[in-house]
Amino acid sequence: MKTAIEETFISLKGRFRGDLLRPHDEAYAHARGIWNAMVARTPGLIARCADVADVQAAVRAASAAGALTAVRCGGHSLAGFSTCDGGLVIDLSRMRDVSVDREARRGRFAGGCLLGSIDVATQQEGLVFPSGVVSHTGAAGLVLGGGFGWLTRRHGLSVDNVEGFTLVTADGSMVHANGKQNAELFWALRGGGGNFGVVTEFEVKLHPLTSVVLAEALCLGDDISGTLRRWRDFMPDAPDKLKWNLNLRIAPNTENVPADSRGRPVASESVLWVGDPEEGRAYLDHVLSPAVNRKVLSYLALQTMADNEFPHGRHYYTKSGYFKSLDDSSIDQMVQALATVPSPTTQIELAYLGGAAARVAAGETAFGDRSSPFVVNLLANWSDASEDAANVAWIRNLFKVLRPSMTPGVYVNFMSGDEDDRVPEAYRERWDRLVEVKSHYDPNNFFRLNQNIQPTKTASIKRDR
Ligand SMILES: Cc1cc2nc3c(=O)[nH]c(=O)nc-3n(C[C@H](O)[C@H](O)[C@H](O)COP(=O)(O)OP(=O)(O)OC[C@H]3O[C@@H](n4cnc5c(N)ncnc54)[C@H](O)[C@@H]3O)c2cc1C
Repeated sequence: MKTAIEETFISLKGRFRGDLLRPHDEAYAHARGIWNAMVARTPGLIARCADVADVQAAVRAASAAGALTAVRCGGHSLAGFSTCDGGLVIDLSRMRDVSVDREARRGRFAGGCLLGSIDVATQQEGLVFPSGVVSHTGAAGLVLGGGFGWLTRRHGLSVDNVEGFTLVTADGSMVHANGKQNAELFWALRGGGGNFGVVTEFEVKLHPLTSVVLAEALCLGDDISGTLRRWRDFMPDAPDKLKWNLNLRIAPNTENVPADSRGRPVASESVLWVGDPEEGRAYLDHVLSPAVNRKVLSYLALQTMADNEFPHGRHYYTKSGYFKSLDDSSIDQMVQALATVPSPTTQIELAYLGGAAARVAAGETAFGDRSSPFVVNLLANWSDASEDAANVAWIRNLFKVLRPSMTPGVYVNFMSGDEDDRVPEAYRERWDRLVEVKSHYDPNNFFRLNQNIQPTKTASIKRDR
């Protein structure tokens, strides 16, 4: 008897236009790896699609054979959902076309694009698509979960800038979802992750921008707690054009860090002004001392400056949550935890959303929570497998300490693979509606390697029929 993956391969062989890679193929070893080395799996078949017809064929073949199927864009899922053992990976890395209409300020990009491919193409026309902060991240996974980065306060989440999706659903059909067609699906795709099908094209709004002003500083010792309190108190009234991020970490041993700070616990501050530099001067002076150096940076330089900090193939583990307000004791707990951080590249990332993202009504998209502006991401980052246990334990312990002060909720793209029980919490009052859409478009849960919304037999939407 043939296995499900053998059946899938036989069904695709001869008509699939992309690459079909199996464990004995030379290109397989490289194609198998994903960004997070904590998740090393061995798929039975990697189907690297050349076009939409390949995606449809792969979905139909795997569905008919009953093969476990993962979908991969950039492979940056922290949870490792874009691979599996023994099953199929639908790999979209050959589908990276981007087109831009400068006059209309609109763009389209294919389902396998990395953020960098979109940034490069849109910058050629002086435009931007608001996305994340590391250019080798996949756009599809990031956007489908919500997507935030440097421009979120100014222009909203990535999903707030999507006007239409083209996707291949579980039965292999091609479906369009936008404000007029399949509106429930359009709603669900804006935050509901990869639950509903393989998105082959995104239609998006773009905004004019070519450069920004950035100021960066490190603070040490007792100043760390004071800085966190000032940040907390300042951000609720900050203009949308200002983004102030803080990372609590060990200062790296690099040339751009003063010698007496290297290896010490620090708060690393990045303050961004998205607009006229003159207009921003007073705000930047208020946030950081006027003595702190600030520079005008091209948008592409901004979008790639963190790329080397999060390389492929290291070990990563994360836990994340929101705070409606950040109390003194949570601040003190985070600062204290720095003293025992197990790896010099493990960090506590703090961001404040608000701005344009918070002005979109809660029910307008499926995205989790827009009302709790403080986002805390505990991100362990290390290289040696012998340090796995210490890093995971440190993150879990700190999360346990902070959790009682957090607002229920979590950003699905900052979740690990051991947090299935938090998926309903991520969507809260949007959960039942998401279950209805899932039950309609994927009743057998073919797309289940994701922060999964399980279909029910009884629920089915009426509006998209
Ligand atoms: C270094 C790094 C930096 C990050 N920075 C940010 C950031 O600034 N802002 C932010 O919001 N998030 C950020 N994230 C989190 C990021 O949003 C998620 O990791 C996201 O899943 C990455 O997308 P991907 O396409 O690379 O993922 P993949 O691992 O390829 O896919 C993840 C999941 O997305 C779904 N998926 C992928 N492609 C498709 C498709 N075409 N159609 C349907 N479903 C699909 C699948 O369910 C898949 O399981 C970052 C992650 C990393 C690792």
